[in-house]
Amino acid sequence: MNPIFADIGTSVFEVMSRLARERRAVNLGQGFPDDPGPADVRAKAAEAVLSGWNQYPPMMGLPELREAIAAHYKRFQGLDLDAASEIMVTSGATEALAGALLALLQPGDEVVLFQPMYDAYLPLVQRAGGVAKLVTLKPPHWTIGEADLAAAFSPRTRVVLFNNPLNPAGIVYDHETLALLARFCVRYDAIALCDEVWEHVIFDGRVHIPLMAMEGMRERTVKIGSAGKIFSLTGWKVGLVCAAPAIMRVIARAHQFITFTTPPNLQSAVAYGLMKDDSYFTEMRAAFQRSRDRFSAGLVERGFHVLPSQGTYFVNIDIAALGRDDDVAFCKWLVEDHGVAAIPVSAFYAHDAIRTVVRFCFAKHDSTLDAALARLDNVARLGRGDQLNRPKEIESSP
Ligand code: PMP
Ligand code: GLN
Repeated sequence: MNPIFADIGTSVFEVMSRLARERRAVNLGQGFPDDPGPADVRAKAAEAVLSGWNQYPPMMGLPELREAIAAHYKRFQGLDLDAASEIMVTSGATEALAGALLALLQPGDEVVLFQPMYDAYLPLVQRAGGVAKLVTLKPPHWTIGEADLAAAFSPRTRVVLFNNPLNPAGIVYDHETLALLARFCVRYDAIALCDEVWEHVIFDGRVHIPLMAMEGMRERTVKIGSAGKIFSLTGWKVGLVCAAPAIMRVIARAHQFITFTTPPNLQSAVAYGLMKDDSYFTEMRAAFQRSRDRFSAGLVERGFHVLPSQGTYFVNIDIAALGRDDDVAFCKWLVEDHGVAAIPVSAFYAHDAIRTVVRFCFAKHDSTLDAALARLDNVARLGRGDQLNRPKEIESSP
């Protein structure tokens, strides 16, 4: 069997959610909200199941959804996209990533990646025949420097896989960093695969800048979004792909043989949702920001060193401040002895992992966050003293 999949463990998200269930822990590991998501968007989906079209929709996505995506990105990000030739709907951002990598890479092509990286990236790149060139980012600022890019890019670079806002770091890259990355993409004639699933979940008045809007990037960027993140409905798996026609044509060829289509009822509901008033998006952001602030303040009060969270559902703590250097052992101890599940950020590195950062999902009701905080009451103090052992199962995750 293919060693790329045969030799990797189960995704850390699945492992931690299972441990959380077994231990009846408060699950702040896998990123999903407590809230059931907007009732009107869910009602649209239900209505479409009962009285709408439930046979194959068009391969590229429902026309009404593709139009809504174009209008949405025009309204929020100033992009001019042609719904007929530059937009496609996939079954989640994950399918979009897989399809784009299969379509764009030939064996031996180099792909620049930034670690910590979403756990699907590396196996998908490798399975598509890509050779990974990793840039390692470090807390607290996770800065991307010119020297890092100069070391990673080469004339063989075909694709750059970039995630902004960055999960798990919770960082939103600024205009200067995006411009730097764009200059390298142009210089090396590389295509940017830009995972922007967290584009709407950004805080403190930040504005999302799509990489596609940077100079020289319009024709060489594949922009990927996810309705699951836009509407806090992570199980929905409706991905939004935007790219210039020449690139889109090829990605669509891959898509037609991976899933071909995405459930039409969910597509109708997402089309409706994307046209909602600005206030929906502003309020969603404000609610998550409130949760971030509530949970972060609770962590600080309990003696944890909290890293900045500018976007995503996540806030990280630096356990080096507790004298700890093993995030996996720390998370095992948290879930087993204290009943709180979190994610060790080293799981997002392929090598040279940073082992001192632990990620919590704050996209939860106040009562869930408060229950977790109560369980974390003495952890910072104890965390300095206990002997922690590494669990095999988590260790084997990517
Ligand atoms: N990319 C990133 C950075 C993510 O955080 C996630 C999900 N959390 C995905 C992709 C997957 O999105 P989807 O569920 O739409 O496949
Ligand atoms: N993206 C989610 C997270 O980072 C999890 C997605 C998954 O479970 N694969 O927690």
